[in-house]
Amino acid sequence: MVRLRFAPSPTGYLHVGGARTALFNFLYAKKMGGKFVLRIEDTDVERSEKEFEEGLIKALKWLGLNWDEGPDVGGEFGPYRQSERLDIYRKYAQKLIDEGKAYEVYAYPEEIESLREKLLSEGKPPHYTREMLESFTTPERKKEYEEKGLKPAIYFSMPRKEYVLNDIVKGEVVFKEGTVGDFAIIRSNGIPIYNFACVIDDYLMKITHVIRGDDHLSNTVKQIALYEAFGWETPQFGHVSMILGPDAKKLSKRHGATSVEEFKERGYLPEAVVNFLALLGWSHPEGKEIMSLEEMIDAFSLERLGKNPAIFDPKKLKWMNAEHFRNLSDEKALEVSKPYLLKYSTEKDIENNKEWFINLIKAIKDRVEELTEIPYLVEFFFVEPECKIELSQEVKDVYKKLIIEISNIDDWNEKTIYQAFKNAMKGSKVKGKDFYMNLRIVLTGREEGPELIDVVYLLGKEKIINRIKKHLG
Ligand code: GLU
Repeated sequence: MVRLRFAPSPTGYLHVGGARTALFNFLYAKKMGGKFVLRIEDTDVERSEKEFEEGLIKALKWLGLNWDEGPDVGGEFGPYRQSERLDIYRKYAQKLIDEGKAYEVYAYPEEIESLREKLLSEGKPPHYTREMLESFTTPERKKEYEEKGLKPAIYFSMPRKEYVLNDIVKGEVVFKEGTVGDFAIIRSNGIPIYNFACVIDDYLMKITHVIRGDDHLSNTVKQIALYEAFGWETPQFGHVSMILGPDAKKLSKRHGATSVEEFKERGYLPEAVVNFLALLGWSHPEGKEIMSLEEMIDAFSLERLGKNPAIFDPKKLKWMNAEHFRNLSDEKALEVSKPYLLKYSTEKDIENNKEWFINLIKAIKDRVEELTEIPYLVEFFFVEPECKIELSQEVKDVYKKLIIEISNIDDWNEKTIYQAFKNAMKGSKVKGKDFYMNLRIVLTGREEGPELIDVVYLLGKEKIINRIKKHLG
C-alpha cells in the first residue's frame, strides 16, 4: 500500500507551493487507495508557532485534503509532531555514532562560521570534514561543555562519492562526488536537523513516495546518503518544478495573494483553489480543466507531473472560481454566498425568504468571479440606487403605463412581467432598447447587471413602482 505525507514546517501560512505539494501527495495516496499522512516538522524552534500549525491544519481542511494519520487524528506511527519525537532521533543518531558514521562535534557556532569563511576565502567549497570538525574536540573543550551542561552537536560523515537519484519527475539526477560535505544531524540543543528527522520519520512512518518541490533536491542527496548509512530503502522521490509568477520570476508576495488563507479571504471556493493548484504542474490526460477533487483523484497519475516550471496565473484562478461557482447547486451557491449577503441582510431574513435569495443568487451567478464581488452585485436589490437620469417625455409616458400594467399583475412571474412590458410599449414610438436601458438605470442605477426581467421579478412591484415614480416628476 502506498503511503504519502505532507510535512509542513509551521513557520508561516500555507502558500501555493506547499498547498500544491500537499495536493499531489493527497491525490496519489487517494488514487492508489493508500494513506495520506500529515506530519508537522516543527524542529525550527525559533520560527515554529502553534498558531501557524493551527492555520495550516485549517487551510488544508478547507481545501478538503483530509489526512488518515496526523497530530490531531493520531495513527499507528505517531507521534506526528517532530518536537514529540526527539528521543527517537537521538536513538538513531547514536546508532550512526556507534557505527562510526556520525560523530560528536564540540564546536561553537562562531567557530563553524569562521571555518566556513576560511574555506571560502581559500576558494574552496564550504564542505567540512570529520578531521576539521573533530579538531575542536579537545579535553578542555569537553570539560567546558560538561561544566556548562552543554551537549555536542552530531554530524554525519558524508561519504565522498557520486549519488544517483531516479526521480519520478526529473528522471535521473546525478549528484557528483563532493557535492556536499559532512553536515549536522542533531544540534547541540538536542533538536534534529530537518534532513535527519525527515529521513527517520519517512522510514518509520513507512512513507513510500515523497513528492515535493525541486528546491529540495540539494536536501535529497543528503537524505539518500542517510538512508544508505542506515541500510534502508529510500522512498520514491518526485521533485516538481517551482511555481513562477506570470512574469516568469519565482512566485512571491509581489505577485499578489499567494497563500490559501488569502484565497479564502478573497472569496475563492476551495473547489476552485484545488483545481487551480492541481494544474500547476499536472495535467488531465484529456486536457480537462475544470474538475472536482473526485475527478482529479480519478485521473491522477505521477507520469503526468510536468518537468517545466508552472506559471501561476491569477486570471486563470478567477476564471476557475467563476466556473466552479456556476456549477454549484442553488442551495450550495446560496450557502457560500451567505457571508457576503450579510452586509444587506440577516441570517434570519435569508432563512425566511430562502426562495427569493436562491433566485437572487441565480440572477447574479454568471457575473461572479470572486465571491467578494457579491455585495456590489446585489447592492441595488437592497439599497435604492442614486441615479440622475433625464427621461424623455415619450419614455415617461410609457413608464406611466408600465406602472399601471405592473400594479395590475396578479400572478407575479416572468411571463406576466414581460407581458406588462409589451403592453406598456404598445402604440408608443419608444424603441425597445431605450425602454429597457432606461428602465435598467432607473431600477439599478447601472448600465449593466443581471437580466432585466430577473431584476424586476426580484425587486417586486412596490420597489419598482417607487423607483420609476421618482423619475416621472
Ligand atoms: N518541512 C519541509 C518543508 O516544509 C518538508 C520538506 C519535505 O517534504 O521533505 O519544506
